[in-house]
Formats: sequence, structure tokens, C-alpha cells
Amino acid sequence: MIYHGAEVAGQDAVAVGGGRILALGPVDRLRRQFPGATVRRVAGRFLPGFLDGHLHLLSYGRALGELDLAGLAAPKARDVLLAARGAQDGWLRGRGASASLLVELARDQNLLRRLAPLRVWAHDLHTLLSDPGSVRALGLDRHVPPGGAVEQGPDGLPTGLLREAAALPLAAAADQDQGGAEAAVERAIRDLWRRGIVGAVTFETPEGVAAVASATGRLPFQAYVYQTAASIGRGQRPRRLGRRSALVGAKFFLDGTLGSRTAWLRAPYADAPGTGLPRHDPEDLRGSMRSLARRGFSLAVHAIGDAAAQAALGLLESLPPAEAPHRIEHLQLVPEGFAERLAAADVTASIQPCHLEQDLADARRAWADRLARAYPYRAFGDAGARLALGSDAPVESPSPALNLKWALGADAVGGGARHGLDLELALRGYRDGVYQSVGVRGQDIVPGARADLVLYRQGPEHGDDPLLVLSEGQEVFRAGEAYVEE
Ligand SMILES: [Zn+2]
Repeated sequence: MIYHGAEVAGQDAVAVGGGRILALGPVDRLRRQFPGATVRRVAGRFLPGFLDGHLHLLSYGRALGELDLAGLAAPKARDVLLAARGAQDGWLRGRGASASLLVELARDQNLLRRLAPLRVWAHDLHTLLSDPGSVRALGLDRHVPPGGAVEQGPDGLPTGLLREAAALPLAAAADQDQGGAEAAVERAIRDLWRRGIVGAVTFETPEGVAAVASATGRLPFQAYVYQTAASIGRGQRPRRLGRRSALVGAKFFLDGTLGSRTAWLRAPYADAPGTGLPRHDPEDLRGSMRSLARRGFSLAVHAIGDAAAQAALGLLESLPPAEAPHRIEHLQLVPEGFAERLAAADVTASIQPCHLEQDLADARRAWADRLARAYPYRAFGDAGARLALGSDAPVESPSPALNLKWALGADAVGGGARHGLDLELALRGYRDGVYQSVGVRGQDIVPGARADLVLYRQGPEHGDDPLLVLSEGQEVFRAGEAYVEE
């Protein structure tokens, strides 16, 4: 196959075969070199396929499988739910609804009975709408969990609306029959392809590890897996899982999130009492970290606040090097001089600039007095630390355009420091950086490299979506008339 007409690594045509890039050059030369090749005319610019440096394939796939009720008014939501009920058995799952939509739907008890069993989350995950029968079947009307509320109608019976802690047992019951883990992973991969993403570092439970291994055996998508540390058995070692997947590492948590003010800080929040919530005493993790690192696992530590970042680096610095470098996830606030220490310790900065879409206003309040040290992407880059860019999907959209918007635009954080990356460094962090973070040498668009190519009219930094995506030379996504065959 020869694609020509778009800029591709400084040339105007690329020949692809057997999953690899065969040659680059002027189209006439490639025609002579590969007689009989199919020739396709495209317009735009080819970039190498992206790798997402941090996401959750199984939970992203499950989120995509749910009804999206965001922005819907009650009549439309009612139609969507009834149509879905007609098409499937078992729990009907939805998300993204406004809390007021759920209140309105709860007034129609007849509707809820027809939709049973039902589980719809409000977008903030603090209110859930079910059906009265499911609420009673779980005994939630008789024993309201502490910290929760079960709404009752005038007749004293549950309406189906559950708040805070009362929602959790119902959500757990509804998620139990989710099965189909491999189908969910496949759904995630198909969604990522059309965004130009051909591989990822994914954080999974054992169920997800198995599903990722089998889905990527069939589909051209590379997965480097980190498993939750507590679920890794004594005899387990890093290993290839299948054709395109490998178990690389183990994941630990040191703190919570900025939004819930549970990120662990050295000094109290500017807008809330306390310094957040360490999930563990770091000393308690040292032994199991050492044992996993000795067996060759790369360790990934979730650290959002500066106290967590400091503790994470302290733990990782003292470990033997693994097959792939150790890494810290998120790093939204760090101490002074942290970037240089990170680079010296060869620990990967795994960052998700797209979180700024939701977090920026929160960060400006909570860390008003220390913004220069928040989202310090440029400091990481200047210090020469290895950057891996990811999205944390399903927490945020995996769109590279959104991530680049904030990687380049992070100066909006303020605090008298530069935060944003330049385009070249951001793009490198979206492919080479991710490969290096898992100990793999990636290649650009050169003969012999894997044919992972994404065609843009201009580029993701302009907010464009891909026109054509090739993963291992296979066309995994095409928008309308991406090419004309000659
Ligand atoms: Zn995550």
C-alpha cells in the first residue's frame, strides 16, 4: 500500500506492508519500487501513532458501554432509557445525568418499574437512581447505610433515589453482572483507535489483566500493564501476556485527589482544613516494594500532593532498578527542587495535563499560595526528566487534542512560573516517552518501523481529529473520504 499526498517525515509518500513501513520517498520512486501496490491519495500530515501513558482500558470500556445521559432533559432521557431496556436484559447502567434529571425521573414510578433493574449515576457520582424493587431487594429501605440517604415517597416507600453511602451497595450489585470484560476492553480499544492512539500503559485489576491480554491478542493495540500491587501473588513476575501485551509493573497509592481535598500535602490547603489523607504510612510499603522490584517489577506510585510526591520519590530512590524504570503518577504538586531529583533518580514523570480541564479552578483555590510548584511540566522537561503523557481515561477523555491543549497551555496555572511544554516535547512524551517508560525502544516514521500512522488535516495541536489511523499497517479508523484509491 502506498499513501501519498500528505507530508510524512519530510517526504510525500510512504509505502506500508506486512505491518511495517517499507519505504519513504517521492511517490514515483515508490511506484517503481513496489509495482502492483495499491496507491491511495491522501491530504494532510502523517504523525506517528500515539501511546497513552496512563489509562484504564477495562473501566474505560465499561464507561463507554453505559448510556450517556449528559445534557439530556427528562423526556429525551426517558426515551433513551426505554429503548435501551427493550434491547437488553439485566442491569441497565447509565451515567452523566444531572441530579435534577434523576429527581424528575424518580417522580415517574411506573417508568422506573419498567426500567428495572436500573442504575443511573449522576455525573458527580454522589446521587444514584435505581428502581424501588431493586432498592427493597437489597434491604436498603430497612437498613440505611450510615452516611447515606434513601429517599421515600409520600407512601413511605423508596422512590429509587439514593444518595452518598446509600448508593454504594446498589452500585456494587449492579456492577456484579458486568462480565464481558474482554468485550469492554475491545470497545475501549476501538474508541482509542479513532483518536489516533495505538497503544497504552494501562492500570488494571487481575480481571482487567486477563481481558487486556486476550483482546490485544486479536486487535493491533499494544498494552503495557501495571497491576494493583496488593493483587500480585508471591510467585508472579513481569512477563509477556500475549502477542501485544506485557505485565510490566505494580501500582501503589500514597494519597487521594485534589477535588476531594485528599491529596497529601506538606502544608494545609489554602481553602480547606488539614493536609489531606495519606493512604499508607510510606514505611509500610517499603518491604513489599522492595520485594516486587527485586522480582523485576517496575513500580508506579500514585502521588498527587507534594507530601505524597516526596514520599514516593524517597521510596523509589532506594530501590534496585527494575526492567522498566519506576514511575510516579500524576505529580500535581511537588516540593522545590523535585524535578532535578526525579531526573537524577531516573524515575518517570507520568503526567495527565488534560486533568487541568476539570482541576484548574480547584487548584487555584486549594493551592493559591504555591501554584508555582503545581503542574510543573516545564520544570520536568527542563530538568531532563522522562515524561510520559496520558489521559487517565475514564477519569478524563483520552483525546490527544485535549491533552495537548493543556500540555501546551499549562501556563494558565500561574503562580509566577512557566508550566507549559513546547509542542515537540509534548509530542515526544506521547510516544517515545511512553515507550521508554516501559523499557521499549520506540521508532519514529522510518523504514522498518511498525506502521503506526495517523493522518491529520493539520494536527492534534490544532484540535483536529484524525482522518485515518493505521496500527501495524492495518486501517483501524477512517473518517469518510480520507483517501481516494488510484
Ligand atoms: Zn488512573
